[in-house]
Parts: sequence; C-alpha cells; structure tokens
Amino acid sequence: MRQGLSFETPSARSGEWEQMLRLFIQPDSEADRAKLVGYMEQILFGLQEFLHKHVGVTEEIGLKELALGYMDSTLCFDPEKKLPEVISDIIDRIAPQAVNVSSPYFVGHMTSAIPFFMVLFKAIVAALNQNVVKLETSKVVSIVERQVLARLHRLIYGFDETFYNTHVQSTEATLGTFTEGGTAANLTALWVARNTLLGPKEGFAGVEAEGLSEAYRAYGIERCVILVSRRRHYSLRKAIGVLGLGNQSLITIDVDGENRICLPALRRKIAEYKADPKTRILAVVGIAGATETGTVDPLRKMGEICREAGVHFHVDAAWGGPTLMSDRYRHLLDGMELADSVTIDGHKQFYMPMTCGMVYFRSPFHLDAISYHANYIIRRGSVDLGIKTFSGTREANSLVLDSALKVMGRKGYGMLIDHGIDLARKFAEEIRRRDHFQLVTAPELNILTYRFCPTPLKEALLRSSGAERTALNEKINDINITIQRVQRESGKSFVSRTAIDKGVPGGGETVVLRAVLMNPLTTLSILREILDEQEAIYREYYGDAQVGLGSL
Ligand SMILES: *Cc1c(COP(=O)(O)O)cnc(C)c1O
Repeated sequence: MRQGLSFETPSARSGEWEQMLRLFIQPDSEADRAKLVGYMEQILFGLQEFLHKHVGVTEEIGLKELALGYMDSTLCFDPEKKLPEVISDIIDRIAPQAVNVSSPYFVGHMTSAIPFFMVLFKAIVAALNQNVVKLETSKVVSIVERQVLARLHRLIYGFDETFYNTHVQSTEATLGTFTEGGTAANLTALWVARNTLLGPKEGFAGVEAEGLSEAYRAYGIERCVILVSRRRHYSLRKAIGVLGLGNQSLITIDVDGENRICLPALRRKIAEYKADPKTRILAVVGIAGATETGTVDPLRKMGEICREAGVHFHVDAAWGGPTLMSDRYRHLLDGMELADSVTIDGHKQFYMPMTCGMVYFRSPFHLDAISYHANYIIRRGSVDLGIKTFSGTREANSLVLDSALKVMGRKGYGMLIDHGIDLARKFAEEIRRRDHFQLVTAPELNILTYRFCPTPLKEALLRSSGAERTALNEKINDINITIQRVQRESGKSFVSRTAIDKGVPGGGETVVLRAVLMNPLTTLSILREILDEQEAIYREYYGDAQVGLGSL
C-alpha cells in the first residue's frame, strides 16, 4: 500500500502521526519544498501551456469516455497517492480535459481569463484562512472588508465624504455584503425587501419571525409580486421561490425593440397591482447588463417610477456593474444610484476567481432587516460581518477585490470595460457587413447576439409570412444549432447559444449565437476567424446545393 502522508515511504507505522504533524507545518525537506514551488509555478504561469490546444467542451475525448475513468466510488482507508503525484495528476489529467476559459477564442460565456495575480491573491486568502463571519477569526480583515464595500458603495451611489466617514467603520451601518455569487446577492436584496415590506408592527412580530401566512394575514393581503423584464436572470425565480412567495409571483414585463423593459407596460402593471388591495409589490427589478443580450433597462425612469409608487427598486448589475469604472461608458448605467439595492458580481467583470458576489444598499440600515445574532459569535453591537448576511463561515474575498483594485485602479478596470464595449461594436459592424450573418441584438455593453442566416433564406424570410415563415425560421434555427455544436466540438473556438423569444427578425423563438467580449486578448481578427469557421462549417454540413448558395 502506498503512503501519501510523506514523500518517503515510512518505515514504521509509529511514524505516521509525525508525518501528519508535518503536513500542518511544511514539506519535509528542501527538495520537496522546491518540488512544490515548481508545481505552484507551473499552475500559476503554465496552465495556459497545458490548455492552449483546446477551447470549450471538445469531443476529442467524449464525456462518456472520460466518465469511465471516474467510476470507483470506494473511499480508501489508506492514502492512495503522494502529494506531488496528486498535484501532477491535476496538471496532467484534469487540466487538459477542463475548459480553457482563458482562451481569447472562448467568447461564449461570462467566465473568462483572469489576471495572473488573482491566483496569487486567492492563494494568500487561503493561506491566511480568515473567517470573516466574526472578528475573532478575522480582525483587521473585517475592517478591510468594510472599507472596500464603502469604496464600491461610493462608486455606485456617490454620497458625500461625510456620509462615508460616518458609516465606513460604524458598527451601526452596513453598506453592503459579500455573497457567494450574484444569485445569493439577488436573494439577499429581495429578502431585505420582503422583511421590510412585511416587517413587525403592532401585534405582529414580522415575516421573518412568524412566516408568510401570518404576515399576509397581518397585512390583509394574499400575495406579493416582483416585477422584472423578460430578460431577467433565472436566479430571481429561485430567490422568490426560496422566500416563499412562489415563483409564479415573479411577473415578467415585456421588452421594447431594444430589449429594455417596456415602461408603459411597467406603469400599467404597477397601477393594476396598486389598485388590488390583496396584492403588494415587493420590488421592481431593473437589469444592468442582461445575461443574454447585455442590455440595460432605463434605470433612471424605473427608479423614478418606483419612488413615486413607494416600491423597493433593485438593480441586478451582476454583469454590468463594473461599467461604472469606465469614464466613457458609465453613462450607460445612468440612474443606478436611485436603486435601493444593487447586485454586482466580482467573478465577472472584476475578473476575480470563482466565486464572489456582492450586494449594496442605498440605506446603511436596510440590511438590519435580516440581522441575526448568536450568543457565542455575532453578538449585538459587535462589528462581526456575519450578523447581516445569509452566509455563515465565509472566506475573505474582500481581500482579493481590495488587492485587485490596488493593482488595477479604476483606470485599469475602465480600460478593460472600454475594450469589451468597443470590440463588441466592431464585431457588430463586421457581422452586419457579412452577407450570410444577421445581427440579432446589437451590443449596448459587451454582449451581442447574432445568427448565421444565408442570404437566400434571408430573402425568403422577407417574402414569407405565417407558417412558411415559421418553417424557414426553424430551418435557420437548426443551422445555428449545428454550427454552434460543431464549432464547440472541434475545439478551436467557442460562442454560446441561446434562444430569444421576442423583438427579433422573423418572430417566434430565434436561436442565436451569443458573444461575450471581456477577454482583453480577444481581437477583431480572432472574431473574424470565428465567423469564417462558422461559414466553413455551414458549407461543410449543408453544402451549396441544399439552399442554393452559389455565392458562399
Ligand atoms: C450572472 C448573473 C446572475 C447570477 O449570478 P451568479 O454569480 O451566477 O450566481 C444574476 N444576474 C445577472 C444579470 C447575471 O449576469
């Protein structure tokens, strides 16, 4: 049986405890230490080497075949492998079969390359292993977290110096909180809104204490709804489900031709629910960077409507929030400061490693609505960060963000935002210029959707209507599904695929290819190559004869 507790096979069983102790201190010898440092170097600087061959989920080795190597479900009593072996396994066997999200040809997802220093910061956070749930396990790190939260709060809301001096380290105030991700951030915002709307009053201890049925009884209502555009992220449905309101109470509002929430429809819905004494509007959610189209709702108008209606206004800026750091494009988020709460993801456009979500509140006391205390930690009046958050134990992600902000500055992040948006616009022009492509949703931020649509089919679409048109659209949908799949499987580049159900040429459900442009190494010429490959796939799979594409 092999031994994993040491780099050398132990001579006697009595030595095992000593080996165990050494695991908590450092490697046995200088040689082992050098070996481990070598591995870390490989991981830090060399992973791209291992991965550069392929992008996305390739079919070179299919998932089924891979899975055959991972069938054993027994947990060994004795250690199976030595530490260096385990690490080299990850490097040699796992990494090459993982997805190369850092490739500049991988433009389909919100997961991209990260600056190399992020891995260092993450490793430091792991080494310090602070638990920011309470001061006793984090000390200064909790204070750093409050500072970085204040900095981003200021970026969003821009209150004056006095406001931030008063609240940045005040035990009474909470400007925001870190969460697992955007899903948990959205949940937290709506949890706060729920507890505020259905809070304690004469004869009622509040929804958090007594539950929803008692709350509805106490407030004389039967339902709470949340209004959002149909471009919403599905995490909102989860949140409203978890909060017990029923995800059918997430009411989706139509979008206009530009995929932004239709304001007259929003106003109508608000008026309708206001007139119904049995229904309360828990929140209206604005989207700042829709996951599929990257579009931004008219935040200022929405904020004004919410204020007038006395409704909590949440902005889901999980994707688009960091656009605030660009002097050129921050105006695209105009009105975000009217939000009562804002979600921003760190692992998206702050280029942090998985995972980091954040939620910010306009009022430093809004998060009190979800405060919990325990006698052994997070005591009343303490600055323990675990008081007003869903998470318990939590890593010091704030330290990664704080350090990254120091290295990059607002300027550095602004450059990345500018690159993405500029490139998306150039890519849109390129798509428009090509005969056999069709831009479906133009980029507002750095996301766009398009489809392959051979000219003869494009023309036929224009001439057709009704069932014929639907049939043509389905044919184009099939073509795009094939192109996306074949491109992904051939492993050089990757765009994602989604379906858009409204406001697109041809009507009906339209399959689109989706590009997310955040990797600074992605260039227009790479994007041209991606389009060329898509054309080539079309020609190979459908041939000229089928739809008479002599010109292709
Ligand atoms: C990514 C995203 C979310 C969800 O965030 P996770 O970090 O994946 O939990 C929510 N809303 C929008 C708009 C997003 O882009």
